[in-house]
Amino acid sequence: MGARHPRRAWSPGAGPVPYARDTVEAIVLLHQPDQLVWRWSANVVYTAKSCYRSTFQGSRACPAWKLLWKTWAPPRVKFFHWLANKDRCWTAERLRRRGLQHHPRCLLCDQEPESMHHLTLACPFSRQVWYDTLSWLRLPCRPPDNEPTLHDWWTTARQHTPKPMRKGLATATLLVPWLIWKHRNSCVFDGVQPSIQSVNDKIKTEAALWARAGALGLRAVLPVDWDDRTWHQFTYQEGTTHAPGNAQRVQQHLIKLADGGHGVILVANLPSGADQG
Ligand SMILES: [Zn+2]
Repeated sequence: MGARHPRRAWSPGAGPVPYARDTVEAIVLLHQPDQLVWRWSANVVYTAKSCYRSTFQGSRACPAWKLLWKTWAPPRVKFFHWLANKDRCWTAERLRRRGLQHHPRCLLCDQEPESMHHLTLACPFSRQVWYDTLSWLRLPCRPPDNEPTLHDWWTTARQHTPKPMRKGLATATLLVPWLIWKHRNSCVFDGVQPSIQSVNDKIKTEAALWARAGALGLRAVLPVDWDDRTWHQFTYQEGTTHAPGNAQRVQQHLIKLADGGHGVILVANLPSGADQG
């Protein structure tokens, strides 16, 4: 070390550290009182704005922040995409890197190794789901074609989408990969067989629920008759139940959303007298 960095060679008793001494000796002292300065602004004056910005020193911005931050989607879906952007989801590719047990090929197509990029943008299974969803939503953009990232595809697709439909496109951009990932998890953990029709049905059901929950941009791109058709699937049933911790019988309305006749996937309890419309 001493030979390679002779200026840093130092031993106890040899006096001040040489490079520190050089640094100190290069400082010119003035006959002016010392003063504190704020280094995070150009004019060395403290401002709350410069203080806030200083907290981001050394941080790296997520390229897809605008898509995640400004798009309507449930928080858990945004959180999934944030993890996917940071490559923190346990795909087979990540399991392989950690030396953990993994399946050799994508369970959805059985053709390529599974990575988040493959699952969301390159997998033939996923591309067919994208194609079906964009057709159903009447979005004029093309489905993903092996773009480097989901954000890259969204940026390109946005340019080919009329302005009133762009919020719907952004929400669909978060919705589709999330349900593909959930379907993939069902295949891995529950032994479910891959089914494009199943994913498409779940996308339609979820899209209708998101639109009713406040995704106005998504509502704008849903088929005109879809919302009414979905709402007709709600059936009302009056029932009685006990309030928790209270023996008093409370009249409630039970709203059930039928899942294509296969079962009830949502049951919401409304207080008696709540507006059913
Ligand atoms: Zn695949």
